[in-house]
Amino acid sequence: MRIVIGGISHESNTLNPIITGQEDFVVFHGEDMLKPGLFPGASARGIIDALQEAGCELIPLLLARAVPNGVVSADFYRASKHEFICRIQEARAAGTIDGVCLALHGSMKVEGLGCAEEDLVRSIREILPAAVITAALDMHATITPELLAGVNGFAGYKTAPHVDCAETGSQAARMLLQTLRTGKRLYTAYQRIPMLIAGEKSESEAEPMRTLLESCREIEKHPGVMAASLLLGFPWADNEHNGVSVLVSVLGDDPDMIKTADKSAAELAAAFWDRRRDFAFRTEYYDSVTSIKTACRAVLEGKEVPVFISDSGDNPTAGAAGDATELLEAILSMIDTIEKLPTPLLYSGFYDAPAAAACIKAGIGATVDATLGGNWDAVNGKKIPFRLTVKNIVQKYGPYQSDLVLAAYRNILFTITSKHIGFGDPELLPSLGVKAEDYCIVTVKLGYLEPCFRSIAARAIMATSKGCSNEVLETIPYQKVRRPLFPLDMDMEWISEAKR
Ligand SMILES: [Zn+2]
Repeated sequence: MRIVIGGISHESNTLNPIITGQEDFVVFHGEDMLKPGLFPGASARGIIDALQEAGCELIPLLLARAVPNGVVSADFYRASKHEFICRIQEARAAGTIDGVCLALHGSMKVEGLGCAEEDLVRSIREILPAAVITAALDMHATITPELLAGVNGFAGYKTAPHVDCAETGSQAARMLLQTLRTGKRLYTAYQRIPMLIAGEKSESEAEPMRTLLESCREIEKHPGVMAASLLLGFPWADNEHNGVSVLVSVLGDDPDMIKTADKSAAELAAAFWDRRRDFAFRTEYYDSVTSIKTACRAVLEGKEVPVFISDSGDNPTAGAAGDATELLEAILSMIDTIEKLPTPLLYSGFYDAPAAAACIKAGIGATVDATLGGNWDAVNGKKIPFRLTVKNIVQKYGPYQSDLVLAAYRNILFTITSKHIGFGDPELLPSLGVKAEDYCIVTVKLGYLEPCFRSIAARAIMATSKGCSNEVLETIPYQKVRRPLFPLDMDMEWISEAKR
């Protein structure tokens, strides 16, 4: 079987003014995608492994991925799609294409265009109108009617934080293989639930997600069901399609299978809606000022160390700018208390290319005047002036080749990145010679703590800070989402088809 594989994957935060461009993406072209060991743990890995194991001939198109950020540049998207399409046309000229398996996010937005996935699938359909297309999606995917019509079968992640991406990729690949081997068509049942959920209220190990995802796995035990997915949408992308989706993809489009799929999807949607008020933050959380006061008090009273504070409103891994300063301003407003802490307060960190460049130019040990913050997020960030002492520098770090700087101001130690790479990477601080556990207060621009931090945090506080990943969705000035929408319209009613 000749199968086309590829994907352009990004989670685009429409509140963040940064345009995610070519320099932000890591791109693998054609055969480069098939080098062994690439993308460990990603859906593309699962797709490639499953199809190769089945002895398929793979036609690799292009795989592009970037850290979540603002919407994607139209030029980059157009060029990537062009390459995608050209490679499909070449492959089709050389012989029949049996199927397409895509590694997508589902909430990628392109400047001036909107939903990238539906545009990409539409373009593929123009060339391969009858081909079977399956897709692996992120749990934060947004389903649009056209995407639903263009793709035959979907599989979404069932974990948040996402640790089952490769598994989901192989599920999408197996679905494709099954339909091609049996000649049975795929059918996907769909239910939209008019609801938005903050990422930090929907970890898969916490209720109610744990039970709801267990229901997905139960549905998948029915004969013929290839995947049952709960896709939560992406709350920081203001668009008319935002909401929660239930998708149940089944093998066979006879009336019985269709009925099974529709009924399962409707029942799962009803169960989800019934538990809408149970979604809650799992960690203790406060506004920025209270968060820092609480952490300082705990440290100075000799209680828990280290205390972690998530700057959750400006979480670059949720597509925020990474340079909002509301929490930093709260810290600076009590600098006298910060000075009394037994170790510096570690703040990881800020995406600030000019500050990183100034520190690198000055060199390790030098003192430099620079501003931190407010380059991009002008709503929630200010350019705050500091006299920084440069403590360490690492250049061209990681796959995105970001420069890293460690710099001190009074009793605060900052990490600064030259690229928008986020701060959840367990290797980032060690590469700068920093052990987070040595600091009494560690502030991270993250939402829920990554396992590397959770394992050492004596206490974890989430600051519901202001920024492009503001967790308090009720306070976001949405313009485009379809109303009514829970929890913006707290008392709205909605009845799933299962109960109608
Ligand atoms: Zn996600």
